[in-house]
Parts: sequence; C-alpha cells; structure tokens
Amino acid sequence: MQGEKKKKIVKTIKVDVDKCNGCRACEVACSAFHATPQYSSNNPARSRIRVIREPLRDIYVPVYAGEQARAECLGRDKYVIDGKEYEECAFCRASCPSRDLFKEPDSGLPLKCDMCESDATLEKPLCVQWCLVDALTYEEREEEGEEEAQPEDVEIGLESLVDKYGLEKVLDSVARMSLSKKD
Ligand code: SF4
Ligand code: SF4
Repeated sequence: MQGEKKKKIVKTIKVDVDKCNGCRACEVACSAFHATPQYSSNNPARSRIRVIREPLRDIYVPVYAGEQARAECLGRDKYVIDGKEYEECAFCRASCPSRDLFKEPDSGLPLKCDMCESDATLEKPLCVQWCLVDALTYEEREEEGEEEAQPEDVEIGLESLVDKYGLEKVLDSVARMSLSKKD
C-alpha cells in the first residue's frame, strides 16, 4: 500500500571544501552544544562534525556524522578531485568499526548529527553559525514525500550497546538499574 504523501522539510548543510581552512570552530561549537550541561565543556572528539585535515596537502574536509554502520565495508572509496587525492573513506559519514570517528569517546556509542534540532530557537545549526568563512551554509526546502519512521537516539544507543555487550547483559543492567531507582 502506498503511504500518504506529506510535506516535509528537507534540511541541508552545503559544504564547500575549498573555503574550509581547518580552524575546527565547527567541532568546538558542536561538542559544546551537546555537552551535559549544555556549553559546560568542549571536546572535538564528541563532535558530530569532524574535519579531516592534511595541512601539507591543503586538504580540509568537514564531514557530518550519519548513520551507524555495524560492519566495515569490504570495499573502500578513494577520490581524486582537482588533482588532490583524498584518504580512503574521507567522505563517509558512518560511525563504523574501522575507525574512531563519530564515537562517543567514553562509551563508544555512535554519534549522529541531529541538525541541532533540540533547540528550536536556533535559526541555523551551530556549526554553520560558527563557520566564519562560509564553508558551511544551511538550506531548507519543502518536499512531498512519505513519512519515514526515524529511530530515536535512545534506540540507536541501545542497539549499539546490545551489539557490544549482548542482549542478556544489557537487560540485566536495565533490571538492576530499575531496582536501584525504586529504592
Ligand atoms: S568552522 Fe568552517 S572553516 Fe573552520 S574547520 Fe569548520 S568548516 Fe572549516
Ligand atoms: S548541525 Fe548541529 S549537531 Fe550537526 S554537526 Fe552541526 S552543530 Fe553538530
């Protein structure tokens, strides 16, 4: 059965790698925005945007964290653009077992850009606001499409814990936590 067509807002951040100078202000802003309490600390390792930097070759590629990939790809991509060769997987957005990118450093849980949606007062995502050379620009457009059920962050986190520790251990821990909360 065809799903009902609805209007949806598509949010895009356009990345201009030629304008990026590798300052990493976007990483600092993102990690501070998502710190607990908000803005209490910053640590680029917790950022949902990471800048691949190779200053000697004038390579700066801001990459946004996307969906988690549970297994490594068997094949790898390598791009050459305007004579510059980019490292394998340079443009890949996945939090995946082959690298440390886009993993919460303490827990190892996958990180994913949420377009700063938790703060409806923001006109633009914070990384875009802090990119002073306009390497990042924000656009919104309306499109007709089917409503897609998006997994909640908590679901993604739980799935990843189950992958790491197994369902039984996770269920045991939840049972113990709920008992201690009742005390
Ligand atoms: S803030 Fe802009 S210029 Fe600086 S690293 Fe991020 S994308 Fe590049
Ligand atoms: S849009 Fe928000 S969540 Fe996504 S990378 Fe930028 S600051 Fe981080």
